[in-house]
Amino acid sequence: MDCLFCKIANKNIATDFIFEDDSVVVFKDIHPSAPIHHLIVPKEHIQSINHLESNHQEIISKMIFTAKKIAGKFGLKGYKLVFNVGREGGQIIDHLHLHLLGGWNKPQEII
Ligand code: AMP
Ligand code: ZN
Repeated sequence: MDCLFCKIANKNIATDFIFEDDSVVVFKDIHPSAPIHHLIVPKEHIQSINHLESNHQEIISKMIFTAKKIAGKFGLKGYKLVFNVGREGGQIIDHLHLHLLGGWNKPQEII
């Protein structure tokens, strides 16, 4: 399957991961919309929130929990978590991902 985020998650495209475990990877968004803009991406190919099956409940929970952990690691007290869903929802990469956005009040040097 020709999917950019599958290639990144499977290390077919070299990318610096902020976090990785058996089911998710986290890396910087290439066109950040905030001082801190990270993407939480499951290793499994799931197209979007609209394509979730009941067996995906664990991975969705894992993605949100991972976002919370990463936000804590970067000292973010508040942040935005965004799923864009489908073209009408602004989704351009058809591999599920959670945007973690924050850092607006952080001094530049810690970002
Ligand atoms: P979405 O609009 O929700 O599909 O968001 C896709 C995000 O992926 C956008 O914010 C892009 O800037 C980001 N993106 C696209 N290609 C890459 C890449 N190679 N590495 C990191 N982020 C990327
Ligand atoms: Zn994929």
